[in-house]
Amino acid sequence: MKKFIPAICLIGLLVSCNNSKKLEEVVEVPLPEKEEVVVEMGNPADVKVDEGGSFEMIPLPYAYNALEPHIDAKTMEIHYSKHHLGYANNLNKAIAGTEMANMSIEDILKKLDPENKAVRNNGGGYYNHNFFWEIMGANKGGEPTGDLAAAINKDFGSFADFKTQLIEAGMKQFGSGWAWLILDKTGKLSIVTTANQDNPLMTKLGNTGTPILAVDVWEHAYYLKHQNKRKDYLEGFFNVINWDKVAEKYAAAVTPAVK
Ligand code: MN
Repeated sequence: MKKFIPAICLIGLLVSCNNSKKLEEVVEVPLPEKEEVVVEMGNPADVKVDEGGSFEMIPLPYAYNALEPHIDAKTMEIHYSKHHLGYANNLNKAIAGTEMANMSIEDILKKLDPENKAVRNNGGGYYNHNFFWEIMGANKGGEPTGDLAAAINKDFGSFADFKTQLIEAGMKQFGSGWAWLILDKTGKLSIVTTANQDNPLMTKLGNTGTPILAVDVWEHAYYLKHQNKRKDYLEGFFNVINWDKVAEKYAAAVTPAVK
């Protein structure tokens, strides 16, 4: 907007000076400086939802460049400050004035009417991305330990088999969506995929369970760095998984009575 103000002033001056024969002086008014295109990385802490919304931006637990080289800083910045912020603001708009404005995001999704597309897409987007940011970190990767490692070995054969299956699932998800490790109702770990911003909490859509691990396979999650090579991105993702966080999710899922 700023760049238009001098132009409007100039027009104003031209009109007002039209009869004063001072046009030559007037046209010497300096033109606005050309805007410099500076690519600067923002600060995730500066990203806030529009005022009055029920759900806030949960701070990203690391800097935009923390997951380099596997997930590049520019992708993280756009993903968090544009895509994720959009889901949060649109969710807030969709639930404003409804009983959902006072519910947890988990309860909103569990009770979701799938026909409510605004909440389905944006509530899913808000939950899924918060989950995704949380289970990644700088200098992570490796393999899980303890109870989670034992459960993965029991239900998938080995960690290597689990990794292969999660990558395959992510590859097979046609178009936009997510690949998940969930704890299903029988207490078994399994891999599922969901389209768009759907997730395993949406009981009316199937594939229901408690999310343990999530990976975003929308192109916006990897295209700047990996272009069409989704598999490279998925393999890189395994270098940034925060297995301590994933183990916390698993522990909470197997002991729901503690809540
Ligand atoms: Mn995304």
